[in-house]
Amino acid sequence: MLKKIDHLGFAVHSIDKARFFYETVLGLTCDGEETVDSQRVRIAFYRIGEIHLELLEPTDRESPVAKFLEKNGEGIHHIAYATDDIPAQLNRAAEAGARLINENPVQGAGGKLVAFLHPKSSNGVLTEFCQKIEKDNP
Ligand code: ZN
Repeated sequence: MLKKIDHLGFAVHSIDKARFFYETVLGLTCDGEETVDSQRVRIAFYRIGEIHLELLEPTDRESPVAKFLEKNGEGIHHIAYATDDIPAQLNRAAEAGARLINENPVQGAGGKLVAFLHPKSSNGVLTEFCQKIEKDNP
């Protein structure tokens, strides 16, 4: 079951240039930065209430975000829904005929597991499921 919107991802050419808008124009504070090798992106996080914004900067030309930027320019890249059971969400989506980008969850940012649905199956919106990894010793 989906719990809430976890975050929105924005594709940017440069986090260092984009942070002016989020920090100076909007007055938000950067909550951390991370490089996710599996997605070939550098990410800066901004928390707003229960959700956060992810600025996504490609780390190389083969990055899916680099391809997105080439095709669409900067803008909203994806929406992520929090769930406590990614495999169940993927099964549900697959059974309904949706195209999966990830058939199994992969390691994402913020220590979460993530999986994406293809935007052709979701009316043009790249859709992510994300799940906090349960810690053995909370
Ligand atoms: Zn995301």
